[in-house]
Amino acid sequence: MVKDTKLQALSSAIWLATQKTQKKIVLSYYPMASRFINEHYPLAKGDERHREGNFWVRSDLAYTADRAYRLFLELFPGEAIVSKPLTVIDFARYSQLYFNTYPNDDMSTNRLHFFIQSIRDGEVVRMKKCKCCDKPYVVHRNDCQIQICGICRRKEAIKAEMEISLAASKLAVGA
Ligand SMILES: [Zn+2]
Repeated sequence: MVKDTKLQALSSAIWLATQKTQKKIVLSYYPMASRFINEHYPLAKGDERHREGNFWVRSDLAYTADRAYRLFLELFPGEAIVSKPLTVIDFARYSQLYFNTYPNDDMSTNRLHFFIQSIRDGEVVRMKKCKCCDKPYVVHRNDCQIQICGICRRKEAIKAEMEISLAASKLAVGA
């Protein structure tokens, strides 16, 4: 049983390496992987995505933060996001769940890692209920006045854009 867990941890670490996760992040979850992951990095050279930081939470990509947060709550219910450190297996599972659920999003294992860190550091704040969909969401700590989640805000923006292009095409037909 113990052996199985070790094997699973190692294969999770290797998977994270193949996803171009920063080496220091993989090792923060599983220092023992040090000897085993190097060979999985040459392929990923120069192609590291999403460095440390949480400015994207304030951008058009805010909806991906809400997706990440809700998936986290689904996978690890309760207060785990603030209190319990993830194992390398948990972190790989979480990342896989995100990529499988939203394959087209601009997301990476690095970003997911820093996102969780930001919540723990209080840089990103958890909000209980969106005024529009009633679901939990997150905001940057400077944006605590925002009462509507990024997913609902994005839906509104897309709707508005469609209305404008519809109006424009009607005008074109009229002319
Ligand atoms: Zn909402």
